[in-house]
Amino acid sequence: MQYRRLGRSGLQLSALSFGSWVTFSTQVDEGAAGELMKLAYDAGVNFFDNAEAYAAGESEVLMGRVLKKMGWGRDSYCVSSKVFWGGKLPTQRGLSKKHVRDCCHAALRRLQVEYLDLYFCHRPDLDTPIEETVRAMNELIAQGKVLYWGTSEWRADEIAAAHGVARALGLAGPTMEQPQYNLFARERVEREYLRLYEDIGLGTTIWSPLASGVLSGKYAEGVPKGSRMTLAGYEWLRERLESDAGREKVRKTRELASLAKELGASVAQLAIAWCLVNPRVSTVILGATKPAQLRENLAALDVVPQLDAAVLARIEAIVRTKPEPVERF
Ligand code: NDP
Repeated sequence: MQYRRLGRSGLQLSALSFGSWVTFSTQVDEGAAGELMKLAYDAGVNFFDNAEAYAAGESEVLMGRVLKKMGWGRDSYCVSSKVFWGGKLPTQRGLSKKHVRDCCHAALRRLQVEYLDLYFCHRPDLDTPIEETVRAMNELIAQGKVLYWGTSEWRADEIAAAHGVARALGLAGPTMEQPQYNLFARERVEREYLRLYEDIGLGTTIWSPLASGVLSGKYAEGVPKGSRMTLAGYEWLRERLESDAGREKVRKTRELASLAKELGASVAQLAIAWCLVNPRVSTVILGATKPAQLRENLAALDVVPQLDAAVLARIEAIVRTKPEPVERF
């Protein structure tokens, strides 16, 4: 495993980490979750990602049971939660001081830990002043319940505003952002956040490196039984897959698969290794429903040295998704 600092913080996360969205509780029971987490941990993964919204809290319950059963030293791994989508009531959602606090306490109970290493604002809350959220996060930090707080899918100006408020108050600003990043979603990480890496030392824990499995090549000949695109509640993902844009992604993935084959790698490994080439990526959060998938994906680290300038240019020629450079007049 390779370890990378989370932005300008001192925390070193494994370059590959493991998350539980969609999978835990819906596709994977406690036994299988334990097998996957152990496989990851034994390979050097030290960060497990979660959120209050995942399976309405059940994903955290499962992860908490596994952490307890495994008995790993609390100083040997990091675990996260995210606040935003709690329940249906107005007090159970968003980034008010009340919900930020309630969500943290509920996550600690479900995960059976004394503190969260990383705590994310899952989306921006336009109805809550940023100062209120900044103060709420800092109170949890002062109480030792959270180590680092961050954002997920916030715009660059929203992250910069939170940082500015925190600095003015002498408080901690967001250490990291959790954006989507893969060969088909690059704008935020490669363009929008550019200033933030330098100005505030932002770290990134990136999600959906395989675009929900599309970049594994599994949808090349239709939709396999039991795959994410067949799940009830995720019809929106399947609609995207079956749209013109989705079909284009499947076509490009086929081409990427031929290139991967030349390198002796799978297309999933190529896609994950490509994320790792970007030094702005602190950790790539993997998702998996089966040990074989996770084993394959963890081996992406070995493919990184093969992605030299020539191979990267060939990848670029296939996907054609590189954001235009920022223009200055
Ligand atoms: P991916 O894009 O890597 O998709 C993972 C899924 O793809 C797996 O569950 C599996 O689904 C399939 N898959 C993975 N590897 C392979 C393989 N080698 N061969 C075939 N199929 C494979 O990541 P996720 O979308 O799961 O995101 C990863 C993590 O990021 C999440 O668990 C979560 O922690 C975080 N996240 C955060 C978000 C946010 O808003 N902050 C949003 C989304 C995710 P299947 O077997 O069912 O087809």
